[in-house]
Amino acid sequence: MARTDVMVLGAGIVGTSVALHLAKRGLSVALVERASVGEQTSYGNAGIIEGNTIFPPAFPSDVGALARIALKRASEANYHLSFLPRVMPWLLAFREASRPERLVETARLIRPLFSRAVAEHEALMAEAGATRYLRKTGWLKVYRGDKSFGALAPEFDLAGKFGLPLQALDTAGAQALEPSLNPVFAHAVFWPEAASVSNPLAVTRAYAARFTALGGVLLSGDALSLHRTGNYWRVETGEGALDSAQCVVALGPWAPDLLNRLGMNLPLAVKRGYHRHFGAEGNASLARPVLDAEVGYLITPMEQGIRITTGAEFAARDAPPTPEQFSRIMPRARELFPLGETTDAKTWLGSRPCFPDSRPVIGRAPGHAGLWLAIGHAHWGLTLGPATGRMISEMIVGEKPFCDPTPYRAERFG
Ligand SMILES: Cc1cc2nc3c(=O)[nH]c(=O)nc-3n(C[C@H](O)[C@H](O)[C@H](O)COP(=O)(O)OP(=O)(O)OC[C@H]3O[C@@H](n4cnc5c(N)ncnc54)[C@H](O)[C@@H]3O)c2cc1C
Repeated sequence: MARTDVMVLGAGIVGTSVALHLAKRGLSVALVERASVGEQTSYGNAGIIEGNTIFPPAFPSDVGALARIALKRASEANYHLSFLPRVMPWLLAFREASRPERLVETARLIRPLFSRAVAEHEALMAEAGATRYLRKTGWLKVYRGDKSFGALAPEFDLAGKFGLPLQALDTAGAQALEPSLNPVFAHAVFWPEAASVSNPLAVTRAYAARFTALGGVLLSGDALSLHRTGNYWRVETGEGALDSAQCVVALGPWAPDLLNRLGMNLPLAVKRGYHRHFGAEGNASLARPVLDAEVGYLITPMEQGIRITTGAEFAARDAPPTPEQFSRIMPRARELFPLGETTDAKTWLGSRPCFPDSRPVIGRAPGHAGLWLAIGHAHWGLTLGPATGRMISEMIVGEKPFCDPTPYRAERFG
């Protein structure tokens, strides 16, 4: 039987960042993973470090948009009919959290954590030798119509209040940044302070390598074996039993599998998303991620090629993939950018772990001494991994966290 000060369950970007921050504070730490570091949700994202996030994605308020989604004609969202009854309470809570005043409240609550997103990555990248994956080239959102662009007024207003720079551009202005984009859009917004990475998996692996270089231990094991023994949490690993006084659950979309067993029923649902890689025709290239806002997909330059990621699919986490959004997206994506053929044999599927108020849970697990949660990072797990790692490790060692953890408490769900 081995013993460490802390065990961290799950080696996605969140768990790995937490483990690294704890090791940096001099604790003995084991990072327990059943598969491989960074190869699940944290592998396939769009690579954006969205420190500039203002409003979270909202439940559609427009009847036309809802009707298109219901009729499965929308490119931005999809659903499995059989899953809707199960996810309905979550959807209703999501709709409630999407009221305009709630969105403004969320924007204010999350700003302190998001404002550290890029800087916290830069700090970890510098010590992990991963700076080469970082692009500080911002991100660009393009809007095909006047209506969707006009709807951005509240976001621009808050950006001004928060001191977040943005540039509203016309087609030519956007093409000056991204010459390979075709002029199928009327407006664009450039967010210069967002950053992105060219290989999310390599970044998580680099953080894990830094963690082990600091003395952290990476173990293969099943988090579902977690149980209490005396004053310790115990998990069974390939190296035998591991005991720790403190345990951080960072299981991403799999967190409910463990938490339900411990009697914690937090409202975590998944928004599934897909990606595929493509070549580019001729000399076409991109310097940054581009969001085709009304169509609802992202196009991002990665080391593997041009990665297209889809919006939300409401379906059971483990249901078979149904990447039907691609057939709706692809004609529009090819209008915007001269894509070549796909280079993937199959479409990647991941599950964003989401709470209905779009805020993660970061902090103590109610009613369980020594148990901590770092889950539910939704659309921003890559963005917030290092900031989460810093905040929760400061709490675990008894330092004052760099930002107020109250908005992230699990107790907000009653
Ligand atoms: C299409 C798409 C695009 C996205 N784009 C972005 C983006 O541009 N920017 C951004 O910030 N975020 C983005 N996200 C969200 C981001 O990818 C996630 O929020 C993030 O990866 C979640 O990280 P995690 O560490 O919580 O979960 P994961 O990466 O899933 O890690 C959880 C780990 O737990 C392990 N695990 C599970 N069960 C067990 C068990 N029983 N025992 C041991 N280990 C276990 C898993 O194997 C896994 O390694 C996107 C997501 C998707 C799907």
